[in-house]
Amino acid sequence: MTHAAIIKSVPGMNNSTFSSDDDRWQAVLRRDATADGAFFFSVATTGVYCRPSCGARQPRRENVAFHHTPADAEAAGFRPCKRCKPNETPAWTARENLVARACRFIEAAETTPVLADIAAQAGLSPYHFHRIFKEITGITPKAYAASHRTKNVKGRLKHSSTVTEAIYDAGYNANSRFYETATGVLGMTPKEYRAGAKGQHIHYGIQKCSLGFLLVAATGRGICAIQLGDNEDTLLDELRAEFPAAQLLPANETLDSWLVSVLSLVEDGKPTRQTLPLDIRGTAFQQQVWQALQDIPAGETATYAEVATAIGKPKAVRAVANACANNRLAVAIPCHRVVRSDGSLSGYRWGVGRKRKLLAREVSAREASE
Ligand SMILES: [Zn+2]
Repeated sequence: MTHAAIIKSVPGMNNSTFSSDDDRWQAVLRRDATADGAFFFSVATTGVYCRPSCGARQPRRENVAFHHTPADAEAAGFRPCKRCKPNETPAWTARENLVARACRFIEAAETTPVLADIAAQAGLSPYHFHRIFKEITGITPKAYAASHRTKNVKGRLKHSSTVTEAIYDAGYNANSRFYETATGVLGMTPKEYRAGAKGQHIHYGIQKCSLGFLLVAATGRGICAIQLGDNEDTLLDELRAEFPAAQLLPANETLDSWLVSVLSLVEDGKPTRQTLPLDIRGTAFQQQVWQALQDIPAGETATYAEVATAIGKPKAVRAVANACANNRLAVAIPCHRVVRSDGSLSGYRWGVGRKRKLLAREVSAREASE
């Protein structure tokens, strides 16, 4: 999964501001939560107004009007829906969506937009918008725009690393959220992350495999841990240590299907048909390295130096090795495909024996398909 692919799949990306009534109506029809905060809709027959994602029965098009803000809807004589509570402070997701849309707006602009314009497309006052943007990203809209401008000409992939760098430069490391911006489903705040995933629900499953035991765990956003180990208890203890404040729950159906996919990555050595959503947490640098690892094809290897060069930091070989060692998503982020310059396997968080087997399986899976 490349960043380019994620960015491309942002719902509403082509109409990033839901700028026509047609776009808005389509968003209402699909109860698009990524549109929350972008606009509100009112229903003439009931006299209420809603967020786009409202779960209530859908109105007929001819009875619907669109509004930029709750205040606009109320000025037009509508009252807030009791179900989706459109007048209350937007939930984190709505604010994150709003910020994500603002970022796309800034990126798409030919010349750097001024704060008032960015805030206006978000339907907020400059002051309010500035506060939310800073709260979510840790940097100001101006800093984001400036950082984007300098890299403007580089391709789509670079484009998302710009987001990273902007946030990284601001000294803001727990920015995994910004990769999720891309998926339209943003997750926990850096504050929550530092608090050990307080209040988060994490489903996990453990399965015996040919390399011992395999643990897969996921938040609402995607897979947050894939670990290999010799026994179930140790794997579970490690998960608890990593997310001390989260509520750990047994596997649900979604998790089970991911567990099966990861298991087949381990056992068959070839990519699964299912795209696994990854809830990746790490510093901007680690995320860059982990992204580069996902670009190494199955059955091939790269050296730490090659990965360092691939991310544009040829001297950061040791730091690349550290990032590999800190990978928490075994197999899905294939740090097992990285070797020393002399071709030797070097270390593996989950044991060199496992690394050797994983590589051997990938090589034979590739040869079998050729
Ligand atoms: Zn509603």
